[in-house]
Amino acid sequence: MRSQLQLHTLHGGILPPVASDLHERHIEDVVKEALASSVDENGTCSIDAVAVTTKPGMAASLLVGLRHAKQVCQRLGVPLVPIHHMEAHALTLEFPFLVLLISGGHCLLGIAEGVDKFVLLGKTLDDAPGEAFDKIARRLKLSNLAEFSNVSGGHAIEGAAAGGDPSRYHVAEPLLQYKNCDFSFAGIKNSTRAIIIAEENRDGVVGDELLKGVRDLCASVQVAIARHLLRRVIRGIFYYRHQQSFIKSLYFKVVSGGVACNSFIRRSLETGCGPLGVELVAPPPRLCTDNGVMVAWNGVERWSRNLGIVPLEKLQVVDIQPK
Ligand code: ATP
Ligand code: FE
Repeated sequence: MRSQLQLHTLHGGILPPVASDLHERHIEDVVKEALASSVDENGTCSIDAVAVTTKPGMAASLLVGLRHAKQVCQRLGVPLVPIHHMEAHALTLEFPFLVLLISGGHCLLGIAEGVDKFVLLGKTLDDAPGEAFDKIARRLKLSNLAEFSNVSGGHAIEGAAAGGDPSRYHVAEPLLQYKNCDFSFAGIKNSTRAIIIAEENRDGVVGDELLKGVRDLCASVQVAIARHLLRRVIRGIFYYRHQQSFIKSLYFKVVSGGVACNSFIRRSLETGCGPLGVELVAPPPRLCTDNGVMVAWNGVERWSRNLGIVPLEKLQVVDIQPK
């Protein structure tokens, strides 16, 4: 396993050429290790198919993975299963279930009715929640603090918010007047920026007092994002129950994507949905952010149902579009 997180944190975000260079540099070793671990005690390789992310994402990085996946398929004579990155984030349980995907590039609420059947209830109209966390963390220069120098923006805000007072600053919850399941995070980012500017213009705030202000503001941001997510999820549950009145039984709600690492958000969703009889199911935090396991699992689901296996010659690398 390899991770690029530390380097990207150092750059204050993902730089596409850096990401694809790192993919190129490490992929051979990663593939070698995976192939070695698939050989059993009789020396037989137990790989039935290769799953690879083909969209959405940064084209240069996707190309590296796809090129190597094709080589492995050709060498082993096994089929290739192209995987949609967001479908992979939505781990699968017994269908149907409600899914909330909250990541660095997306915010989607939908019903997973089958491996390849996803009903979209709402999506973000502007920024993704992870993007808002990252931009706010960067504006607050949280990575200058030693304890947050090696973590993502969202992780840093969660850490800074611990012990902060969310009632000190008012970060407004967006789209309250819209009775649908869409999301917006640009407003949260902008109103936070306005609060930061106002505080910067106040004279004489230094040291511990400054730090306390940062912690309080991070707590307010976290609360605003959690409330917004919960309100949309509850609306989604009611909508779906109304539409599918024959499904009276309880169903699960899955939350995934990097922002689902946030334990305050997890707890808010859990306590908010519990009284509605909806249980929260979330992968462990290390499997909420991008990882190979989710892509491989999606490959197993598709391959075992004979879904979406593509003959190698039909899968053109040039077809890949950045999101
Ligand atoms: P996408 O999946 O939409 O293409 P991505 O793959 O870049 O985007 P992920 O890897 O799923 O996104 O998640 C990364 C995001 O998760 C970052 O924006 C990061 O700030 C956020 N994140 C990570 N940990 C936390 C946390 N504890 N609280 C909030 N956000 C977090
Ligand atoms: Fe992702």
